[in-house]
Amino acid sequence: MIPTSIMKCPNCTGLFLAGTTQKTKICPYCCKGINLQKALRIAQANNSIEASEILKQLKAKAAKNPRPKSKD
Ligand SMILES: [Zn+2]
Repeated sequence: MIPTSIMKCPNCTGLFLAGTTQKTKICPYCCKGINLQKALRIAQANNSIEASEILKQLKAKAAKNPRPKSKD
């Protein structure tokens, strides 16, 4: 099992999983190459299964508490 991080894409703010040994990753949302050392680490899990559970919970939380719309 590989320790897995939940990362936030600096380009589109999408959340995705990355192995802690990975240095770069292609964002699954905006398809940009991301330097994982520069990206924001949201959470850390012991393995990819745990990480996907955390990601699921984070997404559920985000859906329940949508960000207030920015004023134009
Ligand atoms: Zn992205």
